[in-house]
Amino acid sequence: MAGNMAATDVIVQLFEQRGADRYGGEAISQIEHALQTAHLAVSHDAADALVVAALLHDVGHLLHTMPDDVAGFGIDMRHEELGTDWLSTYFGPEVTAPIRLHVAAKRYLCATDSEYAGRLSPASRQSLFLQGGPMSASEVAAFELVPNWDQAVLLRAWDDEAKVPDLVVPSLASYQRRLEGALRRKVRA
Ligand code: FE
Repeated sequence: MAGNMAATDVIVQLFEQRGADRYGGEAISQIEHALQTAHLAVSHDAADALVVAALLHDVGHLLHTMPDDVAGFGIDMRHEELGTDWLSTYFGPEVTAPIRLHVAAKRYLCATDSEYAGRLSPASRQSLFLQGGPMSASEVAAFELVPNWDQAVLLRAWDDEAKVPDLVVPSLASYQRRLEGALRRKVRA
């Protein structure tokens, strides 16, 4: 997979190859969405691992080969699982768990925050139903027992805000130190 390439170079290359793809049904690209989400995490003083999770939370969309608006055709790509599987080679659960849970966190917030569902963009509202709709009370209780669930809820809130066309935010290169610092020890060596 990575060969002799440094792990962070593999990630940069993935964004170079696929980052210009449109972010779902939104008016921004994948890389713009990733950088805006990461910047919101930094603005809220998130720990480095959560900043990295914010930056990489949608890499699953960059890894699959379906058109980027598949949700519009009623297909759920389970991008959170695809991304987590790929990233777990490089990062531990402090990075991958919030990513794996960020779709469930949307279902959680729809069940627990009455204003939240109303703020979702039309594309996000459409995908919600493919993702299972709002959680039931028992699903909410179970979710709050999953490690890192609260990090996933934070990530989700930034994810939903990170859809501003033409917003200028720090570049991918500015996350190099955080990416390297979050790598698993054996990948870093
Ligand atoms: Fe996202």
